[in-house]
Amino acid sequence: MIKKMVVCAAIVSVILCASCGKKSPEYLEVEVYPIADYWATMDLSETLFPTKEACEELAEKYLQDAAKLLHMEGWWMDINPDATKLELDIQIGSSAQSFTFAPAVKAGEDSVSGGILLSSKIAGKGSKDAALAHELTHLIGFMSGNSFSMSLTEGLCDYVQTEIGHYPYGVLDIQEINAYMLQIDFQDENIRAKEEAVIEKVGVAETGYPYGQGTEMSFWYTMSHSFVRYLIDEFGIDKVKALILEGEDEASYEEILGKPYEELKEAWMEELLTMEVTITEQDILDSMKQ
Ligand SMILES: [Zn+2]
Repeated sequence: MIKKMVVCAAIVSVILCASCGKKSPEYLEVEVYPIADYWATMDLSETLFPTKEACEELAEKYLQDAAKLLHMEGWWMDINPDATKLELDIQIGSSAQSFTFAPAVKAGEDSVSGGILLSSKIAGKGSKDAALAHELTHLIGFMSGNSFSMSLTEGLCDYVQTEIGHYPYGVLDIQEINAYMLQIDFQDENIRAKEEAVIEKVGVAETGYPYGQGTEMSFWYTMSHSFVRYLIDEFGIDKVKALILEGEDEASYEEILGKPYEELKEAWMEELLTMEVTITEQDILDSMKQ
């Protein structure tokens, strides 16, 4: 597997160099352009970006790691093949969630630009990087208009966040945590009915958000991530990426992955509900203190 990835990366870099006629950098340098000096006015000491420089370094590292994980080395080639840097408009605000307000576009001769708002409410607490890895995934090509399914898009961004960004549960496996939570919740008929209604919305052809703020939305994110993770484990990142970016509706699951949507949803639920869970609530609480 590792060998295969190395070969793919080598082929990509050869193609990149051939297409623009000159040597392209392997990764973009990141320059952060905040509209205010947040580091002077806010206490960001508990975050993974306590200084502007640390923010630049973190964004640069996440972009490299996300490109590797998603097999998207040279992700900027269609936007600006001459780019050597990303000018990142970072805003830090008190909204409930972080979000990407500007996808990557060509800026100058040798640059692309994009914009992210990081939520100071979640920074430093459950998410020490305010989901920066999640937002950078949107920025490099997974915006709301890029897929038939918002659930798959958000699920993929959460997948990347969990793999390369700050992950609050230490060594615990996220899918086992999901299984643990669901197995307990489903013992209560009322909770089960509510959660099954949200699960109906996971992976569907729907380009908007089905919920506003609140527990339903956060459960929809968790389950969308869990479903995308299941698909990646089963079919690999390339096929899942193709489904997200090239799929048109729920029939695309069968066309691209070879199995119908309903069958995949059932198999995913079956996996979570029958998983032998060894972690306890105390394990989860302890992992979050570390
Ligand atoms: Zn998102």
